[in-house]
Amino acid sequence: MSTTAENYHKVTARLRQACLDSGRAENSVRLLAVSKTKPASQVLECYAEGQRAFGENYLQDALDKITALDHLTDIEWHFIGPLQSNKTRPVAEHFHWLETLDREKIARRLNEQRPSDMAPLKVLIQVNISGEAQKSGVLPDDIPALAAVVDSLPGLTLKGLMCIPEASSDDDVLAERFNSMQQLWQTLRQSYPGSVDTLSMGMSADMALAIAHGSTEVRIGTDIFGARAVREPDTKETHS
Ligand SMILES: *Cc1c(COP(=O)(O)O)cnc(C)c1O
Repeated sequence: MSTTAENYHKVTARLRQACLDSGRAENSVRLLAVSKTKPASQVLECYAEGQRAFGENYLQDALDKITALDHLTDIEWHFIGPLQSNKTRPVAEHFHWLETLDREKIARRLNEQRPSDMAPLKVLIQVNISGEAQKSGVLPDDIPALAAVVDSLPGLTLKGLMCIPEASSDDDVLAERFNSMQQLWQTLRQSYPGSVDTLSMGMSADMALAIAHGSTEVRIGTDIFGARAVREPDTKETHS
């Protein structure tokens, strides 16, 4: 078995255990395998073990893999990186999900550019839950207005919220962030009960904690695909 396959099974076992520990159903948390900067061959190794949802941050890197794996018709691509408004078209044309929406302008462009023969693009609003000045995402107070815009656009479907909390080794700080997210998400779900079902939070280092606080999707890169090169493709976003 490849290292990727072995790592993948370790992560799914940890995910199941975290669900059990939190008294949650095993299938209540989706695993998003974050394959950014990793080759299509590793995506394929993970796919062969049954994984279908993959997360990508960098457009050109992602498009190369999407093209290479075009024959896998049931694969699901999630764009989880910062998105500039002049780069929306490839996301509209090639992805199933965008997890980092933070502006009305981008929502409207994606709606116009979504091909009519594709299902609506599933969208998560990114929340700047730690209130960091240089981080992307909307502040909690701005969620309802952006949600209303997304909900009004036929090319998009509002699915929920996503966050990347500040890098912290203090579980109490992270737990507080996840807790706030869960409350914001429950409020949003009451407003859009027919579509909102996803709360995307938790990465390799804090997966179990996020699950304990109601995450319905964890985004795991390092623990499946191995450490990434220090220098990633150009981006201003800092990842915790
Ligand atoms: C890179 C990245 C991840 C995965 O992080 P790991 O620590 O490698 O698991 C998750 N979410 C986002 C938005 C990322 O950019």
